Amino acid sequence: MVKSPTNNHYMRIQHRYLTFDRNEKLVKLLDKLAIAYKVTEKSYDATTHLYILEFHFFEDNPRFFELKQAVDKFKIEPQIGTIYDKTDYNNGEWFIVNAGEYQYPQPDDDSGYLKATFNLEHYCHLCDIGKVQNAPYRLKTLPKQPNNQFWGLHWAFDAIFVRQETKNILEREGVKNIHFSNPVLHKTNNPIEGFYQLHIDTILKKGFDNYNAKTITCKLNNEENLNTDRSLKCCGRIKFHHPQIGGYLFEKSIFDGDSDIVQSVEYFGSSGSANRLQIVSKKLKDLIEIYKLKGLSFTPVVYKRLER
Ligand SMILES: [Zn+2]
Repeated sequence: MVKSPTNNHYMRIQHRYLTFDRNEKLVKLLDKLAIAYKVTEKSYDATTHLYILEFHFFEDNPRFFELKQAVDKFKIEPQIGTIYDKTDYNNGEWFIVNAGEYQYPQPDDDSGYLKATFNLEHYCHLCDIGKVQNAPYRLKTLPKQPNNQFWGLHWAFDAIFVRQETKNILEREGVKNIHFSNPVLHKTNNPIEGFYQLHIDTILKKGFDNYNAKTITCKLNNEENLNTDRSLKCCGRIKFHHPQIGGYLFEKSIFDGDSDIVQSVEYFGSSGSANRLQIVSKKLKDLIEIYKLKGLSFTPVVYKRLER
């Protein structure tokens, strides 16, 4: 269990187990330990039958180690995740946002979109750090999902897109240090009307605390056991794995500024993927909710405890 150096948060660490194998011994054990479980069974036809057994418990359970030890015998790898409490959302001042993934940027063969959309002078294809956007994203089709005011792509998690209504609201409400551009429909080369990439101009100072996140260096035989070919030219830059437990811990002071939407200077991801985090203030989150602008999910940022 990772001890969190934060206070004033109520998030819980969940271990979630999922198995497709029917096992009476496991069911008996869960009954004995009084762990609630859910069984889903579906028959598609005479031969295709689906069985799912699902259960979870939290690290703050006083019996956590007893439960984990008992269940570990069945060799089901748990998904470990952070479940935020309503209080974390109410107390949160900044929130990491995610706009979903609905299409691949074009051209989607051999990562052709990189060349089409970025200046790659300082780009490293091993770690994915260093690309600088200098042209519009190219989309395969007009964006569907009409209820989404916010919209995102596969691979390019940094890019957030908005519909006309959201652009109008953000401008009218005076949200600072942002600008907009139209993505392009790949086959026609025409800008997509009423649909915009939301560019976030503010990059925060360094402030991520990596106590619960692995640091990945772009070097030979790195922390992920990648880059084993000695002829590779590694750039030496670093990124972090997304923390699974304990949340994203930042230095509070780096958020002092007049921007309500910002990006981390740090990159996050694994192997050949690296992206900055996009982070909004409570004020902007409230605005998005008041206007019922759909399509973003929010994860509260946690702060470092002040030393006394
Ligand atoms: Zn690199």
